[in-house]
Amino acid sequence: MKPMGPIPAWFGDEEGMLLIGGCGAASLVDEAGDTPLFVYDMAIVEAQVRRFREAMPKAVHLHYAVKANPHAPLLARMTGQVDGFDIASGGELAMALTAGMAPDRISFAGPGKRNDELEAAIFAGVTLHLESEGEGRRALAAAEKVGKRPRVAVRVNPDFDLKGSGMKMGGGAKPFGVDADRAAALARAMIDAGADWQGWHIFAGSQNLDAMAIIETQAATIALAARLSDEVGAAPPLVNLGGGFGLAYFPGDERLDIRPIGVALDSVLESLPDIVRTSDFAIELGRWLVGEAGVYLTRVVDVKRSQGETFVVVDGGLHHQLAASGNFGTVVRRNYPIALANHFGAAPAAEPVTVVGCLCTPIDRLGEKVALPPVGEGDLVAIFLAGAYGASASPAAFLGHPSPRELLLG
Ligand SMILES: *Cc1c(COP(=O)(O)O)cnc(C)c1O
Repeated sequence: MKPMGPIPAWFGDEEGMLLIGGCGAASLVDEAGDTPLFVYDMAIVEAQVRRFREAMPKAVHLHYAVKANPHAPLLARMTGQVDGFDIASGGELAMALTAGMAPDRISFAGPGKRNDELEAAIFAGVTLHLESEGEGRRALAAAEKVGKRPRVAVRVNPDFDLKGSGMKMGGGAKPFGVDADRAAALARAMIDAGADWQGWHIFAGSQNLDAMAIIETQAATIALAARLSDEVGAAPPLVNLGGGFGLAYFPGDERLDIRPIGVALDSVLESLPDIVRTSDFAIELGRWLVGEAGVYLTRVVDVKRSQGETFVVVDGGLHHQLAASGNFGTVVRRNYPIALANHFGAAPAAEPVTVVGCLCTPIDRLGEKVALPPVGEGDLVAIFLAGAYGASASPAAFLGHPSPRELLLG
Protein backbone atom coordinates (compact mmCIF):
# COMPACT_ATOMS: atom_id res chain seq x y z
CA MET A 1 0.00 0.00 0.00
CA LYS A 2 1.10 3.55 -0.70
CA PRO A 3 -0.14 6.40 1.48
CA MET A 4 -2.31 9.23 0.13
CA GLY A 5 -2.53 12.91 0.99
CA PRO A 6 -4.92 14.08 3.70
CA ILE A 7 -8.61 14.53 2.77
CA PRO A 8 -9.45 18.18 3.55
CA ALA A 9 -11.52 18.47 6.72
CA TRP A 10 -14.43 20.18 4.91
CA PHE A 11 -15.86 16.87 3.74
CA GLY A 12 -18.09 14.42 5.57
CA ASP A 13 -20.74 11.90 4.59
CA GLU A 14 -24.35 10.96 5.06
CA GLU A 15 -24.90 7.22 5.32
CA GLY A 16 -21.68 6.59 3.45
CA MET A 17 -22.30 9.11 0.66
CA LEU A 18 -19.71 11.88 0.36
CA LEU A 19 -21.27 15.29 0.92
CA ILE A 20 -20.03 18.32 -1.01
CA GLY A 21 -21.61 21.58 0.06
CA GLY A 22 -24.21 19.54 1.95
CA CYS A 23 -25.25 17.58 -1.17
CA GLY A 24 -24.61 13.90 -1.83
CA ALA A 25 -22.02 13.22 -4.54
CA ALA A 26 -24.34 10.89 -6.50
CA SER A 27 -27.14 13.44 -6.66
CA LEU A 28 -24.64 16.08 -7.80
CA VAL A 29 -23.67 13.78 -10.66
CA ASP A 30 -27.37 13.40 -11.51
CA GLU A 31 -27.79 17.16 -11.42
CA ALA A 32 -24.78 17.72 -13.71
CA GLY A 33 -25.90 14.93 -16.04
CA ASP A 34 -22.90 12.59 -15.94
CA THR A 35 -19.35 11.92 -14.84
CA PRO A 36 -16.55 12.96 -15.03
CA LEU A 37 -17.46 16.02 -13.02
CA PHE A 38 -15.67 18.76 -11.14
CA VAL A 39 -17.70 20.13 -8.23
CA TYR A 40 -16.60 23.40 -6.64
CA ASP A 41 -18.04 24.51 -3.32
CA MET A 42 -18.06 28.32 -3.14
CA ALA A 43 -18.60 28.18 0.62
CA ILE A 44 -15.11 26.67 1.01
CA VAL A 45 -13.60 29.41 -1.16
CA GLU A 46 -15.37 32.03 0.94
CA ALA A 47 -14.11 30.40 4.14
CA GLN A 48 -10.55 30.56 2.82
CA VAL A 49 -11.00 34.24 1.97
CA ARG A 50 -12.24 34.83 5.53
CA ARG A 51 -9.22 33.00 6.94
CA PHE A 52 -6.99 35.28 4.88
CA ARG A 53 -8.75 38.46 5.99
CA GLU A 54 -8.66 37.41 9.65
CA ALA A 55 -4.96 36.55 9.56
CA MET A 56 -3.51 39.30 7.40
CA PRO A 57 -3.07 42.99 8.15
CA LYS A 58 -6.08 45.04 6.93
CA ALA A 59 -3.88 47.02 4.53
CA VAL A 60 -2.94 43.95 2.49
CA HIS A 61 -5.02 43.41 -0.64
CA LEU A 62 -5.97 39.92 -1.74
CA HIS A 63 -5.63 39.11 -5.43
CA TYR A 64 -6.82 35.96 -7.18
CA ALA A 65 -4.55 34.30 -9.76
CA VAL A 66 -7.14 33.43 -12.39
CA LYS A 67 -5.11 30.63 -13.93
CA ALA A 68 -5.76 28.43 -10.88
CA ASN A 69 -9.42 28.11 -11.87
CA PRO A 70 -11.06 30.29 -14.55
CA HIS A 71 -14.47 28.53 -14.50
CA ALA A 72 -16.75 31.44 -15.47
CA PRO A 73 -19.38 31.14 -12.69
CA LEU A 74 -16.62 30.84 -10.08
CA LEU A 75 -14.77 33.83 -11.53
CA ALA A 76 -17.93 35.92 -11.38
CA ARG A 77 -18.32 35.03 -7.70
CA MET A 78 -14.64 35.78 -7.01
CA THR A 79 -15.11 39.42 -8.04
CA GLY A 80 -17.04 39.92 -4.80
CA GLN A 81 -14.45 38.11 -2.68
CA VAL A 82 -11.05 39.53 -3.64
CA ASP A 83 -9.55 42.96 -4.33
CA GLY A 84 -8.07 42.17 -7.70
CA PHE A 85 -7.43 39.55 -10.38
CA ASP A 86 -4.02 38.57 -11.69
CA ILE A 87 -4.18 37.31 -15.25
CA ALA A 88 -1.57 35.91 -17.61
CA SER A 89 -3.05 35.99 -21.13
CA GLY A 90 -5.36 37.88 -23.43
CA GLY A 91 -7.86 35.06 -22.98
CA GLU A 92 -7.83 35.51 -19.20
CA LEU A 93 -8.20 39.27 -19.75
CA ALA A 94 -11.45 38.64 -21.59
CA MET A 95 -12.62 36.22 -18.86
CA ALA A 96 -11.76 38.68 -16.08
CA LEU A 97 -13.63 41.53 -17.77
CA THR A 98 -16.63 39.29 -18.52
CA ALA A 99 -16.67 38.22 -14.86
CA GLY A 100 -17.10 41.88 -13.98
CA MET A 101 -13.79 42.74 -12.34
CA ALA A 102 -12.95 46.45 -12.65
CA PRO A 103 -10.06 46.95 -15.11
CA ASP A 104 -8.02 49.00 -12.63
CA ARG A 105 -8.03 45.98 -10.33
CA ILE A 106 -6.66 43.61 -12.95
CA SER A 107 -2.96 43.04 -13.49
CA PHE A 108 -1.53 41.17 -16.43
CA ALA A 109 1.75 39.27 -15.93
CA GLY A 110 3.31 36.50 -17.96
CA PRO A 111 6.12 36.21 -20.49
CA GLY A 112 5.47 36.42 -24.22
CA LYS A 113 2.60 38.88 -24.28
CA ARG A 114 1.83 39.49 -27.94
CA ASN A 115 1.28 42.98 -29.32
CA ASP A 116 -2.46 42.39 -29.72
CA GLU A 117 -2.65 41.32 -26.07
CA LEU A 118 -0.72 44.43 -24.97
CA GLU A 119 -3.07 46.63 -27.00
CA ALA A 120 -6.19 44.98 -25.59
CA ALA A 121 -4.87 45.31 -22.03
CA ILE A 122 -3.89 48.97 -22.41
CA PHE A 123 -7.17 49.76 -24.10
CA ALA A 124 -9.09 48.12 -21.26
CA GLY A 125 -7.02 50.00 -18.67
CA VAL A 126 -5.49 47.03 -16.85
CA THR A 127 -2.00 47.12 -15.36
CA LEU A 128 0.73 45.39 -17.35
CA HIS A 129 3.39 43.62 -15.34
CA LEU A 130 6.38 44.08 -17.62
CA GLU A 131 8.49 40.97 -17.99
CA SER A 132 11.37 42.53 -19.95
CA GLU A 133 12.78 45.74 -21.40
CA GLY A 134 11.61 44.59 -24.83
CA GLU A 135 8.07 44.21 -23.55
CA GLY A 136 8.34 47.72 -22.10
CA ARG A 137 9.18 49.08 -25.55
CA ARG A 138 6.35 47.15 -27.17
CA ALA A 139 3.93 48.35 -24.47
CA LEU A 140 4.80 51.97 -25.27
CA ALA A 141 4.25 51.32 -28.99
CA ALA A 142 0.94 49.56 -28.25
CA ALA A 143 -0.14 52.51 -26.08
CA GLU A 144 0.66 54.89 -28.91
CA LYS A 145 -1.41 52.77 -31.26
CA VAL A 146 -4.51 52.62 -29.05
CA GLY A 147 -4.09 56.22 -27.89
CA LYS A 148 -4.05 55.53 -24.15
CA ARG A 149 -1.56 56.06 -21.36
CA PRO A 150 -0.36 52.60 -20.28
CA ARG A 151 -0.52 51.48 -16.64
CA VAL A 152 2.59 49.44 -15.95
CA ALA A 153 4.36 47.75 -13.08
CA VAL A 154 7.71 46.02 -13.35
CA ARG A 155 7.93 42.36 -12.51
CA VAL A 156 11.21 41.73 -10.75
CA ASN A 157 13.16 38.49 -10.82
CA PRO A 158 14.35 38.70 -7.23
CA ASP A 159 17.87 37.79 -6.20
CA PHE A 160 16.42 35.23 -3.77
CA ASP A 161 13.88 32.41 -4.01
CA LEU A 162 11.15 31.08 -1.76
CA LYS A 163 12.82 28.15 -0.01
CA GLY A 164 11.02 24.83 -0.24
CA SER A 165 8.60 25.86 -2.98
CA GLY A 166 6.95 23.31 -5.20
CA MET A 167 7.50 25.65 -8.13
CA LYS A 168 10.33 28.18 -8.15
CA MET A 169 9.64 31.35 -10.03
CA GLY A 170 12.44 33.61 -8.84
CA GLY A 171 16.16 33.47 -8.03
CA GLY A 172 18.76 32.62 -10.66
CA ALA A 173 18.23 32.76 -14.42
CA LYS A 174 14.47 32.90 -15.07
CA PRO A 175 12.13 33.70 -17.97
CA PHE A 176 9.95 35.69 -15.51
CA GLY A 177 10.49 39.35 -14.73
CA VAL A 178 13.53 41.57 -15.08
CA ASP A 179 16.62 40.83 -13.01
CA ALA A 180 16.64 42.91 -9.83
CA ASP A 181 19.76 44.84 -10.89
CA ARG A 182 17.99 46.17 -14.03
CA ALA A 183 14.45 46.62 -12.68
CA ALA A 184 14.84 50.21 -11.45
CA ALA A 185 16.24 51.34 -14.80
CA LEU A 186 13.21 49.88 -16.60
CA ALA A 187 10.77 51.55 -14.19
CA ARG A 188 12.59 54.88 -14.61
CA ALA A 189 12.55 54.56 -18.42
CA MET A 190 8.81 53.84 -18.42
CA ILE A 191 8.09 56.82 -16.16
CA ASP A 192 10.24 59.07 -18.36
CA ALA A 193 8.34 57.84 -21.43
CA GLY A 194 5.07 58.97 -19.82
CA ALA A 195 3.71 55.63 -18.57
CA ASP A 196 1.56 55.48 -15.42
CA TRP A 197 3.90 53.50 -13.16
CA GLN A 198 2.04 51.28 -10.70
CA GLY A 199 4.95 49.73 -8.79
CA TRP A 200 6.48 46.29 -8.41
CA HIS A 201 5.52 42.67 -8.80
CA ILE A 202 7.88 40.28 -7.02
CA PHE A 203 6.83 36.63 -7.10
CA ALA A 204 9.40 34.26 -5.66
CA GLY A 205 7.65 30.89 -5.65
CA SER A 206 4.52 28.86 -5.19
CA GLN A 207 3.07 25.81 -3.37
CA ASN A 208 4.91 26.42 -0.10
CA LEU A 209 3.93 24.90 3.25
CA ASP A 210 6.70 26.49 5.31
CA ALA A 211 5.39 29.60 7.08
CA MET A 212 8.90 30.65 8.15
CA ALA A 213 10.13 30.58 4.55
CA ILE A 214 7.15 32.69 3.42
CA ILE A 215 7.74 35.15 6.27
CA GLU A 216 11.42 35.56 5.32
CA THR A 217 10.57 35.96 1.65
CA GLN A 218 7.92 38.61 2.30
CA ALA A 219 10.36 40.64 4.42
CA ALA A 220 13.04 40.32 1.74
CA THR A 221 10.50 41.27 -0.94
CA ILE A 222 9.51 44.47 0.85
CA ALA A 223 13.17 45.37 1.45
CA LEU A 224 13.91 44.79 -2.24
CA ALA A 225 10.91 46.88 -3.33
CA ALA A 226 12.10 49.72 -1.09
CA ARG A 227 15.67 49.53 -2.41
CA LEU A 228 14.49 49.54 -6.04
CA SER A 229 12.07 52.42 -5.38
CA ASP A 230 14.91 54.45 -3.85
CA GLU A 231 16.88 53.80 -7.03
CA VAL A 232 13.94 54.99 -9.14
CA GLY A 233 13.38 57.95 -6.84
CA ALA A 234 9.61 57.42 -6.71
CA ALA A 235 7.17 55.78 -4.30
CA PRO A 236 5.45 52.72 -5.80
CA PRO A 237 1.63 52.90 -5.62
CA LEU A 238 1.46 49.11 -5.15
CA VAL A 239 3.88 46.36 -4.22
CA ASN A 240 2.65 42.91 -5.17
CA LEU A 241 4.41 40.55 -2.77
CA GLY A 242 3.63 37.39 -4.73
CA GLY A 243 1.96 34.52 -2.95
CA GLY A 244 3.20 31.03 -2.44
CA PHE A 245 0.66 29.73 0.10
CA GLY A 246 0.55 26.00 -0.53
CA LEU A 247 -1.91 23.15 0.00
CA ALA A 248 -1.39 19.80 1.71
CA TYR A 249 -1.68 17.50 -1.31
CA PHE A 250 0.52 14.59 -0.32
CA PRO A 251 1.23 12.10 2.47
CA GLY A 252 3.01 13.84 5.34
CA ASP A 253 2.02 17.35 4.19
CA GLU A 254 0.71 19.58 6.97
CA ARG A 255 -1.85 22.27 6.30
CA LEU A 256 -0.22 25.72 6.23
CA ASP A 257 -1.13 27.92 9.20
CA ILE A 258 -1.14 31.45 7.79
CA ARG A 259 -1.65 33.23 11.13
CA PRO A 260 2.09 33.57 11.92
CA ILE A 261 2.57 34.99 8.41
CA GLY A 262 0.02 37.70 9.17
CA VAL A 263 1.65 38.53 12.50
CA ALA A 264 5.11 38.83 10.92
CA LEU A 265 3.82 40.89 7.99
CA ASP A 266 2.05 43.21 10.38
CA SER A 267 5.31 43.98 12.15
CA VAL A 268 7.13 44.55 8.84
CA LEU A 269 4.39 46.99 7.79
CA GLU A 270 4.76 48.80 11.15
CA SER A 271 8.32 49.83 10.38
CA LEU A 272 8.39 50.34 6.62
CA PRO A 273 11.19 52.20 4.87
CA ASP A 274 10.03 55.76 3.99
CA ILE A 275 9.73 55.24 0.25
CA VAL A 276 7.10 52.50 0.57
CA ARG A 277 5.27 53.93 3.59
CA THR A 278 2.32 55.11 1.49
CA SER A 279 2.28 52.08 -0.82
CA ASP A 280 -0.45 49.47 -0.99
CA PHE A 281 0.56 45.82 -0.70
CA ALA A 282 -1.04 42.80 -2.33
CA ILE A 283 -0.73 39.04 -1.98
CA GLU A 284 -1.74 37.00 -5.01
CA LEU A 285 -3.07 33.51 -4.42
CA GLY A 286 -4.44 30.84 -6.69
CA ARG A 287 -4.54 27.30 -5.32
CA TRP A 288 -4.82 28.29 -1.66
CA LEU A 289 -8.13 30.02 -2.34
CA VAL A 290 -9.80 27.46 -4.58
CA GLY A 291 -7.91 24.16 -4.45
CA GLU A 292 -9.62 22.58 -1.46
CA ALA A 293 -13.03 23.64 -2.76
CA GLY A 294 -12.92 21.23 -5.71
CA VAL A 295 -13.67 17.52 -5.95
CA TYR A 296 -13.25 15.51 -9.15
CA LEU A 297 -15.87 12.76 -9.42
CA THR A 298 -15.32 9.93 -11.85
CA ARG A 299 -17.15 6.62 -12.28
CA VAL A 300 -15.65 3.14 -12.20
CA VAL A 301 -15.96 1.53 -15.64
CA ASP A 302 -14.00 -1.65 -15.01
CA VAL A 303 -12.23 -3.52 -12.23
CA LYS A 304 -9.57 -5.91 -13.46
CA ARG A 305 -6.75 -8.08 -12.21
CA SER A 306 -3.27 -8.33 -13.64
CA GLN A 307 -0.51 -10.46 -12.13
CA GLY A 308 -1.85 -10.22 -8.63
CA GLU A 309 -2.74 -6.52 -8.71
CA THR A 310 -6.18 -4.91 -8.97
CA PHE A 311 -6.76 -2.03 -11.35
CA VAL A 312 -9.79 0.22 -10.99
CA VAL A 313 -10.46 1.87 -14.35
CA VAL A 314 -12.48 5.10 -14.25
CA ASP A 315 -14.15 7.24 -16.92
CA GLY A 316 -11.93 10.25 -16.08
CA GLY A 317 -8.20 10.63 -16.14
CA LEU A 318 -5.22 12.87 -16.59
CA HIS A 319 -6.92 14.68 -19.49
CA HIS A 320 -9.02 16.39 -16.77
CA GLN A 321 -6.91 16.10 -13.65
CA LEU A 322 -3.31 16.00 -14.82
CA ALA A 323 -1.90 17.06 -11.45
CA ALA A 324 -3.29 13.99 -9.66
CA SER A 325 -1.41 11.78 -12.13
CA GLY A 326 1.84 13.38 -11.02
CA ASN A 327 2.60 14.95 -14.37
CA PHE A 328 2.10 18.64 -13.54
CA GLY A 329 5.24 20.05 -11.96
CA THR A 330 6.07 17.21 -9.57
CA VAL A 331 9.25 15.17 -9.69
CA VAL A 332 8.03 12.05 -7.92
CA ARG A 333 4.49 10.67 -8.35
CA ARG A 334 2.60 10.66 -5.03
CA ASN A 335 -1.06 10.04 -4.29
CA TYR A 336 -3.55 12.83 -4.00
CA PRO A 337 -6.29 12.16 -1.43
CA ILE A 338 -8.80 9.84 -3.06
CA ALA A 339 -11.89 8.04 -1.80
CA LEU A 340 -14.94 6.08 -2.86
CA ALA A 341 -17.64 8.75 -2.81
CA ASN A 342 -20.49 6.23 -2.40
CA HIS A 343 -18.73 4.35 0.43
CA PHE A 344 -17.12 7.34 2.08
CA GLY A 345 -15.47 6.47 5.37
CA ALA A 346 -16.01 2.71 4.93
CA ALA A 347 -13.21 0.37 6.03
CA PRO A 348 -10.60 -0.32 3.35
CA ALA A 349 -10.40 -3.71 1.66
CA ALA A 350 -7.53 -6.01 2.59
CA GLU A 351 -5.74 -5.32 -0.65
CA PRO A 352 -4.80 -1.93 -2.15
CA VAL A 353 -5.90 -1.02 -5.67
CA THR A 354 -4.46 1.16 -8.39
CA VAL A 355 -6.91 3.66 -9.86
CA VAL A 356 -6.18 4.41 -13.51
CA GLY A 357 -7.85 6.77 -15.96
CA CYS A 358 -9.35 5.75 -19.28
CA LEU A 359 -6.49 7.06 -21.40
CA CYS A 360 -4.42 4.53 -23.28
CA THR A 361 -1.12 5.60 -21.73
CA PRO A 362 0.76 4.21 -18.71
CA ILE A 363 1.06 7.68 -17.13
CA ASP A 364 -2.70 7.91 -16.52
CA ARG A 365 -2.60 6.84 -12.85
CA LEU A 366 -4.84 8.68 -10.43
CA GLY A 367 -4.10 6.62 -7.32
CA GLU A 368 -1.33 4.08 -6.94
CA LYS A 369 -1.80 1.12 -4.56
CA VAL A 370 -4.32 3.03 -2.48
CA ALA A 371 -6.45 1.65 0.35
CA LEU A 372 -10.11 1.90 -0.74
CA PRO A 373 -13.20 -0.03 0.36
CA PRO A 374 -14.12 -2.90 -2.00
CA VAL A 375 -14.73 -1.33 -5.43
CA GLY A 376 -17.17 -2.38 -8.14
CA GLU A 377 -18.35 -1.16 -11.53
CA GLY A 378 -20.47 1.98 -11.25
CA ASP A 379 -18.90 3.17 -7.99
CA LEU A 380 -17.96 6.83 -7.77
CA VAL A 381 -14.34 7.78 -7.13
CA ALA A 382 -13.63 11.21 -5.60
CA ILE A 383 -10.27 12.91 -5.98
CA PHE A 384 -9.82 15.85 -3.65
CA LEU A 385 -7.79 19.08 -4.03
CA ALA A 386 -9.26 19.39 -7.51
CA GLY A 387 -10.31 23.04 -7.35
CA ALA A 388 -7.07 24.44 -8.75
CA TYR A 389 -5.08 23.46 -11.84
CA GLY A 390 -7.63 20.80 -12.77
CA ALA A 391 -9.92 21.22 -15.76
CA SER A 392 -8.08 24.18 -17.25
CA ALA A 393 -4.58 22.81 -16.65
CA SER A 394 -5.06 19.37 -18.19
CA PRO A 395 -4.73 18.19 -21.82
CA ALA A 396 -8.47 17.81 -22.49
CA ALA A 397 -8.00 17.13 -26.22
CA PHE A 398 -5.61 14.21 -25.68
CA LEU A 399 -7.25 11.00 -26.92
CA GLY A 400 -10.57 12.56 -27.87
CA HIS A 401 -12.58 11.92 -24.71
CA PRO A 402 -15.34 14.35 -23.69
CA SER A 403 -14.53 17.42 -21.62
CA PRO A 404 -15.36 17.24 -17.93
CA ARG A 405 -18.52 18.80 -16.54
CA GLU A 406 -18.15 21.52 -13.94
CA LEU A 407 -20.62 22.51 -11.26
CA LEU A 408 -20.37 25.42 -8.82
CA LEU A 409 -22.24 25.10 -5.52
CA GLY A 410 -23.17 27.73 -3.02
C1 LIG B 1 0.58 30.96 -10.97
C2 LIG B 1 0.82 32.23 -10.32
C3 LIG B 1 0.21 32.51 -9.09
C4 LIG B 1 -0.65 31.52 -8.36
O1 LIG B 1 0.09 30.48 -7.83
P1 LIG B 1 -0.62 29.50 -6.78
O2 LIG B 1 0.45 28.53 -6.44
O3 LIG B 1 -1.78 28.88 -7.46
O4 LIG B 1 -1.04 30.33 -5.63
C5 LIG B 1 0.42 33.74 -8.54
N1 LIG B 1 1.18 34.66 -9.16
C6 LIG B 1 1.79 34.44 -10.33
C7 LIG B 1 2.62 35.48 -10.95
C8 LIG B 1 1.64 33.21 -10.94
O5 LIG B 1 2.26 32.97 -12.10
